[in-house]
Amino acid sequence: MAGGQPSGRERESRSVNRAPEKLGAAGSGARALDASARPAPSNGASANGVSGNRLLEEPSAPAMVDGFGRRIEYLRISVTDKCNLRCVYCMPEEGLPWLRRDEILSYEEITEVVRVMAGMGLRRLRLTGGEPLVRKDLPRLVAMLAGVPGIDNIALSTNAVLLAPMARRLRDAGVSRVNISLDSLRPDRADAIARRPGTLDRVLHGLDAAEGAGFDPIKINVVLMRGENDDEIADFAELSRGRPLHVRFIEVMPTESNLELSASNFLSCDEALAAIAEVDALEPVPGPPGNGPAAYFSFPGARGTIGVITPMSHNFCSRCNRMRLTADGQLRPCLFGTIQTPLRDALRRGEDLRPLVEETLRIKPEKHLLVRGSSEGSGGLIALSQTGG
Ligand code: SAM
Ligand code: SF4
Repeated sequence: MAGGQPSGRERESRSVNRAPEKLGAAGSGARALDASARPAPSNGASANGVSGNRLLEEPSAPAMVDGFGRRIEYLRISVTDKCNLRCVYCMPEEGLPWLRRDEILSYEEITEVVRVMAGMGLRRLRLTGGEPLVRKDLPRLVAMLAGVPGIDNIALSTNAVLLAPMARRLRDAGVSRVNISLDSLRPDRADAIARRPGTLDRVLHGLDAAEGAGFDPIKINVVLMRGENDDEIADFAELSRGRPLHVRFIEVMPTESNLELSASNFLSCDEALAAIAEVDALEPVPGPPGNGPAAYFSFPGARGTIGVITPMSHNFCSRCNRMRLTADGQLRPCLFGTIQTPLRDALRRGEDLRPLVEETLRIKPEKHLLVRGSSEGSGGLIALSQTGG
């Protein structure tokens, strides 16, 4: 990212950008109608909250299908690389070499990328970061994106520290779903994990505001860390009993900045589920609408659910439905690895982005190659905040 020798990612970016081939079937209506190209709905529910019959209902609807037959309808947009927290599993305490303002896509540029991709079959968005709420006037971007024809759902991932005063405006502008990160229900621990004082109070305030504003569903993301928050797994699960909250446990993924933690504190979701099952019976359920790879369970009669996201113990890449846009305009077909296509400069030169999107779709890898406790497979990624998590 900084000056000096290009990193592996930068080298790959340049080569991807060099000579995009014109694609044949990917992105065409003909390929979209191939039933075998459709991903199976997860958890027995409608495919990620959207009718599984969309193609049958709208035979001419465009679709993006990658080289492995996966339909890509979902884009995670990192609106900033900056964050007001420094979660121990995510970012180094000293922060990162932040992008300059002119390196970051403007709201108009983000909207243009989305407009092009919506014309190719993109349907759903998630705004993430870094912390998306630290970027000025986020509701303005939401309103712009909500106005793009074809986009039918906008979600937000946030640490919720700044959410309370903005929740209503975000909802009114077009955000319908919110994921909130929270890794401990104990004030001292939440502060220590986020490396910022007063974190828990502010996050809980943000969570209340999210419920008050009517986001639905509201999901709470908990990164599992042995010795850090494993004794709170049952407490988190209990949150789903009386409130319509969907608590999701996530296995920590290795990046350059968390190698020791992701090796020695790794805890699998199977272990978390076993701990929860000791409290009460758990039954598999379809889960709330969403775009993600979580498998869901619930306590009998609970208003919410308990989800598990298992990138390390049970690979779910065969159901991948997404691409990512980084704050500086790199289109990434996978969270990890070295492949990315720089869109920003082409956009600023007024070039057609479609061939670049098609090429990125074509080279989307089959699966991530992460290895526990090793930076191998992460593509030199320092922190998930760089690509939006
Ligand atoms: N700042 C926002 C937040 O924390 O929700 C959005 C960005 S954050 C990178 C998105 C998600 O990635 C959060 O749920 C966070 O807990 C998760 N995350 C970050 N680093 C991770 C890692 N190394 N392994 C697993 N999850 C991680
Ligand atoms: Fe910031 Fe989210 Fe990363 Fe925590 S997980 S440091 S809140 S970007």
